Amino acid sequence: MTKKTKKGKIAINRERCKGCYICIDTCPNDMIEVDENPNKKGYSPAKFKENVSEGEKGCIACKQCATVCPEVAIEVYRAK
Ligand code: SF4
Ligand code: SF4
Repeated sequence: MTKKTKKGKIAINRERCKGCYICIDTCPNDMIEVDENPNKKGYSPAKFKENVSEGEKGCIACKQCATVCPEVAIEVYRAK
């Protein structure tokens, strides 16, 4: 039997991130936010929202964030 919903998660390399936030604008499910804690280069990196509120879809592993990231700082994982 195949699962209809594919959930995922992402890992953002915070030291690679330059804080452009294209990924935040791109994510269809609003799963990425700004980490106010700056990285070593002084940028406030993007951060995955670990918690999904009720009514939110969560990460669907669509990879759009990883595709648009100019720093190749995002890896997408599909939940098993
Ligand atoms: S697109 Fe990449 S570099 Fe830009 S904020 Fe997101 S993770 Fe950082
Ligand atoms: S893989 Fe898709 S749903 Fe998940 S964080 Fe990236 S853009 Fe959002």
